[in-house]
Amino acid sequence: MATTGYFVQSFRSAYKSHGRILDTIRVTKKFTVRNLSSVKNEACYDIVVVGGGIVGMATARELKIRYPSFKMAVVEKEKELGVHQSGHNSGVIHAGIYYKPGSLKAKLCVEGLHLAYKFLDEKGIPYKKCGKLIVATNELEVSRLMDLYDRAQKNNCPDVKLIEGKDIKKHEPHCEGIKAIWSPHTGIVDWGLVTQEYGKDFQERGGAIHTSFPVDNFLEDSGASSDNEYPIRVIGNNNQSVRAKYVLTCGGLHADRLAEKCGCSKDPRIIPFRGEYLLLNPEKCNLINGNIYPVPDPRFPFLGVHFTPRMDGSVWLGPNAILAFKREGYRYRDIDFSDLFDALKYPGFQKLAVKYAVFGSGEIIRSAFISLQLKELRKYIPNISAKDIKRGPSGVRAQAVAADGTLVDDFVFDAGGKGLLSKRVLHCRNAPSPGATSSLSIAKMISDKMAKQMNL
Ligand SMILES: Cc1cc2nc3c(=O)[nH]c(=O)nc-3n(C[C@H](O)[C@H](O)[C@H](O)COP(=O)(O)OP(=O)(O)OC[C@H]3O[C@@H](n4cnc5c(N)ncnc54)[C@H](O)[C@@H]3O)c2cc1C
Repeated sequence: MATTGYFVQSFRSAYKSHGRILDTIRVTKKFTVRNLSSVKNEACYDIVVVGGGIVGMATARELKIRYPSFKMAVVEKEKELGVHQSGHNSGVIHAGIYYKPGSLKAKLCVEGLHLAYKFLDEKGIPYKKCGKLIVATNELEVSRLMDLYDRAQKNNCPDVKLIEGKDIKKHEPHCEGIKAIWSPHTGIVDWGLVTQEYGKDFQERGGAIHTSFPVDNFLEDSGASSDNEYPIRVIGNNNQSVRAKYVLTCGGLHADRLAEKCGCSKDPRIIPFRGEYLLLNPEKCNLINGNIYPVPDPRFPFLGVHFTPRMDGSVWLGPNAILAFKREGYRYRDIDFSDLFDALKYPGFQKLAVKYAVFGSGEIIRSAFISLQLKELRKYIPNISAKDIKRGPSGVRAQAVAADGTLVDDFVFDAGGKGLLSKRVLHCRNAPSPGATSSLSIAKMISDKMAKQMNL
């Protein structure tokens, strides 16, 4: 779905549900008045960014570089930056092979890769350019591989090559396959660490970071007695609040809820999908040099279980994709009934569940019986057995789903709602994978958008 199209659509649907928005605003005011009485000495900022994940931090930093005299702050609900998606991912620096040519995702990923390596070099952040193979194991996969190769060329992915079965072993001596794509510039890094470094850079440039600040509401101050220079109040649920001229929200797994608080449409909803990894026995980690990926099945939305070397020398296998019962729930026993019902009652999720019923059930079964995942993995590296794998960590993807059950695949921005909130607050409602790789180019795009929309 085109981003602009979505923007207009969400604005329209927010406008249509005028009554609901008024209700929201009434509730907001009541709540806020109660809180403001206990709020003193609010700090005032030109721009406040809500959400200290990699997208929020990269954008805060970019805005501070562009507007050095602006007073800026990031507010983050956790004690540290980058602890959710940005600190729970595969750690891959992607080269942009998979994405539809011409899409924002493709453009931002390739740009982001170059910007990321430059930043990592400048800051001395450790990374490994270990490369990546996408391996076909049968003729059907070869034809899909050729389509991917064509995409890689159209997307200007750097130095990507098609190689024959015998050459696979030059890169990965233990890997089997009949044809592959070799991407030498794919790398690995700790994206959580990169998020912290963006934060450090932002602070060194004069930006403020308020952690343990869970934003609960936004209020516009339009009364005659109000301080109209900083008319947006960002209210935390621990009696904290700050004032701002402009606000950007980058809430990851809570992006939709932050937007709704400003009167935006409910859609697209964030549906959390847990991605579980297996760990390879340390004695077998020497079987893997770089990233080894299957050829994705275009009927399904995720890339498939892959071998990912980590910066600490371990090798992760995964991730799969199963519904998480809590938005930031990393273990299968983490359940939040309000998050769960929110997902289950959403018509978009119900349609999605029907559409991917077979794939989804397969993922649940493979999650329960890791021997089934082993069977898949052994197609590429036959020399691993059941005793070489065990359950490992997991991450949770913020998957935006539209009301018609479509998985929203590109970036979504929203400034719906009414009044000042619609003019001065921008919401980044979907920053899908490879959002970490693309973070510096996403930051540029969002900064351009804010400059235009808010006349910065
Ligand atoms: C399993 C998995 C594997 C992935 N692998 C890769 C990969 O290998 N390479 C790659 O490039 N990308 C990968 N991605 C994608 C990438 O991690 C994300 O696109 C990126 O981290 C999104 O960053 P974000 O800042 O939007 O979200 P987040 O990192 O989730 O940050 C959002 C922040 O907002 C904060 N927040 C939310 N609500 C509030 C509130 N009310 N008040 C204050 N703060 C709030 C949260 O606490 C959080 O810190 C992967 C993602 C997952 C889940």
